[in-house]
Amino acid sequence: MSSVQYLKGIGPAKAKLFERLEIFSVEDLLHYYPRTYQDRRENAPNAGLNPPSLVVFKGRVLRAHTVPARSVLIFKAFLCDAQNNQIECTWFKRRTFRNFRFDPFAQLKKDFKMNAEIWVIGRRENRNNFFDNKINVEEYYPAADPASAWQAGRITPVYGLTEGLTNKQMRQYMHEALTAAEAEGEPDILPPSLAEKRKFLGSAQALHAVHFPSSLAELENARARLAYEEFLLLATAWGIKRTQKNISAKNYTYQIKKHLLTPFRKNLGFDFTNSQKKVINEIFADLQSPRPMNRLLQGDVGSGKTLVALSAMLLAAENGYQSALMAPTEILAEQHYLTFQKILKKLKVSVAVLTSSTKTPERKKILSALADGSLSVVVGTHALLQDDVQFKNLKLAVIDEQHRFGVRQRGKLKEKTEKLDLLTMTATPIPRTLALALYGDLAVSTLTELPPGRRPIATQMADEYRANHIVAEEVQKGRQAYIVYPLIEESENISAKAVSEEFEKLKAVFPKYKLAMLHGQMSRTEKESVMKDFAAHKTDILVATPVIEVGIDVPNATVMVIQNAERFGLASLHQLRGRVGRGEHDSRCILVAQHQGSVARERLKIICDTCDGFKIGERDMQLRGPGEILGTRQSGELEFKAGDLFKDRNILQWAIEDRDELLAADPLLQKPEHAAFKKRLLELYQKNWHLIDLS
Ligand code: ADP
Ligand code: MG
Repeated sequence: MSSVQYLKGIGPAKAKLFERLEIFSVEDLLHYYPRTYQDRRENAPNAGLNPPSLVVFKGRVLRAHTVPARSVLIFKAFLCDAQNNQIECTWFKRRTFRNFRFDPFAQLKKDFKMNAEIWVIGRRENRNNFFDNKINVEEYYPAADPASAWQAGRITPVYGLTEGLTNKQMRQYMHEALTAAEAEGEPDILPPSLAEKRKFLGSAQALHAVHFPSSLAELENARARLAYEEFLLLATAWGIKRTQKNISAKNYTYQIKKHLLTPFRKNLGFDFTNSQKKVINEIFADLQSPRPMNRLLQGDVGSGKTLVALSAMLLAAENGYQSALMAPTEILAEQHYLTFQKILKKLKVSVAVLTSSTKTPERKKILSALADGSLSVVVGTHALLQDDVQFKNLKLAVIDEQHRFGVRQRGKLKEKTEKLDLLTMTATPIPRTLALALYGDLAVSTLTELPPGRRPIATQMADEYRANHIVAEEVQKGRQAYIVYPLIEESENISAKAVSEEFEKLKAVFPKYKLAMLHGQMSRTEKESVMKDFAAHKTDILVATPVIEVGIDVPNATVMVIQNAERFGLASLHQLRGRVGRGEHDSRCILVAQHQGSVARERLKIICDTCDGFKIGERDMQLRGPGEILGTRQSGELEFKAGDLFKDRNILQWAIEDRDELLAADPLLQKPEHAAFKKRLLELYQKNWHLIDLS
């Protein structure tokens, strides 16, 4: 569609401002939805929408004049509103002596003629006095001015702005854009049967109403429709992909031979929890079924997901297939490697680790072993996704902490081979409808219990002095501690420096104990040796950035101190806390908050009150929105303009139901009434995702 510059009043300079809001075309502008609304109707029946000091009324001018004063020029207008209240409106202008003939109030004098009817929007001079009839005017519109029809006397939109743009201008441009679009008459993409079933407004009406609603009920319908449309498009894309996948069965099978699985279980030293057994059965059933597996394993921090994954990987090895496990950080990949190596050595199953800091000769060896099939199990980071990593017969991929990876990265592993069984794992639980929307057709397994003997981790807020005291107490008893500092401005670089400084200070605080430091800027060998020393209890206190957030497993560590705790998301705090409480001793987590606003306090209280990761996840979803948590926000994937995956989950549910109905009736969207919908679907998803093929 045409550039915004084509609209009246927008030149190249204004267009630059729009670019900052990522608005390039008229279409973009139309889909730039209001941040909120003001009720500017007479008597404002929904004044709850408005800030308390806002005043909106239509009045008749009684008198208006300039007021002589020394350093400023003042213009006053007295208006009479519908209830016969007299309201005093004031404008100030600095006096300038440069141009005597210029009258800054010329326009006001013209507009505020006696008996003129004028819409006034302003703020009470005295914000706390509700009966104060003196106001500072922000906007006014003579009732005779056509612009008053979309600027006042109705529910008006309030947009997110950038410097140089005002809401008054935005409403003006939006009005222009809507008029242009309505003249053009874009087709409604929603299948008519569904729009009717859900009693939605037509698309042009909905678009108009989301900017300029005639009532709150109309606004609600419009918003729901726009959200539904976005969800339905995504759900349909997944639905089509699912059908296509069903048609194509796997060309390989698994047999449970047990020559690896039985000794593996015997050597563990403990039995699987019932939950683990159930989940392993679910996974094995998937692997043996003719369709490729796509299963999400969710389980709280410490619930034992790694061994579940390893069981599946061993079944692959029993059948002569390769398997890969991908983790979001090097430290975690290394740790999985160490765990696997210990177990797999006895079983004579080969395993290697591949990250971006794997040295070239080592990397070459691993790549050729993967290509010729002599390496059965590989653990790594996103380094596994590189094009030159090729497998002889990769059949099973596991993605740990999958929410740390983008949709595209997850998809890339599958491109390595023709057919693949995929197991994704997460400690951040996802409501079922959300999982469906995000990952399409997906089976979910949940670990509902922790291994026996785990005790809740006592969590409290404390100041730094008290925190250090607790650390000293525990170390004295022979335990170990973590002290974690947040990432500063998302930069490992600066954080490393901050941690180094704190590290020096802490050495003075704990002169008797051995301290070590860990951050993302250290080399792989350095990190590895620090982790090894800590695991072997050669050091007592580990001072670190959140690089240790996921997966680290040292049972003798019993204290986790989190500095600047208010800077962490709930999920991160819960993950960090999960680094302790892994052994036989009681463990504690201390949150040290520097800035304690009430919001921060409320969030930290949630962590103190519960150790249940599923409850925490739910609250986090409410507080921050799912995009932030599932890591889809930064990448821009699954960003919805109208819909909110969490708040609108009932609408999402409708979309999923209706998608099934739609595809049952017309699997490839060949009916003429679905043509517009299909066209939009392909525009949106075919290019970006390689998801669907409707040819
Ligand atoms: P997460 O689910 O957070 O990835 P891990 O897989 O790292 O948890 O497991 C945490 C710890 O629990 C590990 O030390 C692991 O060896 C241990 N563990 C796993 N399953 C059991 C079990 N059934 N009984 C006892 N300990 C177990
Ligand atoms: Mg884990």
